[in-house]
Amino acid sequence: MTRDPLTTVLAGLASVRSWQEDCYRDLHAHPELSHQESRTAGVVADRLRQDGCAVHEGVGGTGVVGVLANGDGPTVLLRADMDALPVREATGLPYASSAVALDADGAEVPVMHACGHDVHVACLLGAVSLLATARDAWHGTVVAVFQPAEEVADGARGMVDDGLVDLVDGAGRPEVALCQHVLPLPAGQVATRVGPTLSAADSMRIVVHGRGAHGSMPQASVDPVVLAAMIVVRLQTVISRETQPGEPAVLTVGSVQAGTKSNVIPDHAVIALNVRTYHEQTRTAILDAIRRIVVAECDASGSPRPPEFELFDRFPLTDNDPGVTGRVAAAFRRRFGADAVELPLQTASEDFTDLPGAFGIPYTYWGIGGIDRDLYEQARAAGRVAQDVPVNHSAAFAPVLQPTLDTGTTALVTAALEWLA
Ligand code: ZN
Ligand code: ZN
Repeated sequence: MTRDPLTTVLAGLASVRSWQEDCYRDLHAHPELSHQESRTAGVVADRLRQDGCAVHEGVGGTGVVGVLANGDGPTVLLRADMDALPVREATGLPYASSAVALDADGAEVPVMHACGHDVHVACLLGAVSLLATARDAWHGTVVAVFQPAEEVADGARGMVDDGLVDLVDGAGRPEVALCQHVLPLPAGQVATRVGPTLSAADSMRIVVHGRGAHGSMPQASVDPVVLAAMIVVRLQTVISRETQPGEPAVLTVGSVQAGTKSNVIPDHAVIALNVRTYHEQTRTAILDAIRRIVVAECDASGSPRPPEFELFDRFPLTDNDPGVTGRVAAAFRRRFGADAVELPLQTASEDFTDLPGAFGIPYTYWGIGGIDRDLYEQARAAGRVAQDVPVNHSAAFAPVLQPTLDTGTTALVTAALEWLA
């Protein structure tokens, strides 16, 4: 009896586990901040070479691309992010991080893999290794992208700007891009979702100009404090009055700064805000509405100069392709049974989609669980999942080693073989 390709490839899981768990613990104990992932990149490149990949290092800074060519057939792009966060680890794990590093502003900060990107790296390395040792079971090309700086939203774009598309197209343009993230779901689960899945995020810094004066002589001023206050109030109507009811969207003014002293009217104010949306149309409409309101309020105040707008920390929408997602979800149901579930809409954001966007190819992004099942079940029974289950970016976020690594590795292989088998 011949075995199906997936069973053949996954037969190597036990031998992968023998190095993958150590690799994961090592990555977890040695986290690196965004754009500083050089040690991680070295670990990745060494492993990819051992598995016979062509390896491209230094793509967009510390990015690594492994190309596993195996004859004619489709090319599939798989992506893992590598960076960690400025968080002091409080998991108490034997392999917990005690690392410190200098952040982009030169301040010394603790560093922790609080978002689980170490899981993503270890799983993708495991998946490549499985495919490399079972070449008879599939054909085509695997492009494994290890991306820096997801947490600051510019790592994927950095790789694209550094020539990723030309580099990969040499091996054949990918047909599809696949990506996963470990989430506070029960370990062993895989979770897919069609359509909008992670929000687009945009931060905007706005400078509005007034005319400074003595606090006792308001008639000589254009008061930017009042102007900024009017803008903040008026911005509350963008979601409540201009966005369709039922369309999820958030507009938060997180910072308003003006002035230095109670009796000095300053000459400018700075407003910083954050927008989360799930449809490009909504995103554009909200950003346009913000500009319109700010310009009009400046006019209404008699502002001496036009306002200045700067967009930063921009994450694209993650909008899973229905065809690709349906195919992967069906394969997951066959492989994982009742542990293949639907992923709820996520409020977080990701820059992964800048990669498929650059190639003009469809993609899907799924979640894998990382939380001990007993812990999760106790929390669920007590109605305390939100309170008792540590989430990504928290100092206590500690995915259980297994079955998390097995699940993530199996999920990547299962999805990739939908195109390669
Ligand atoms: Zn994160
Ligand atoms: Zn993350």
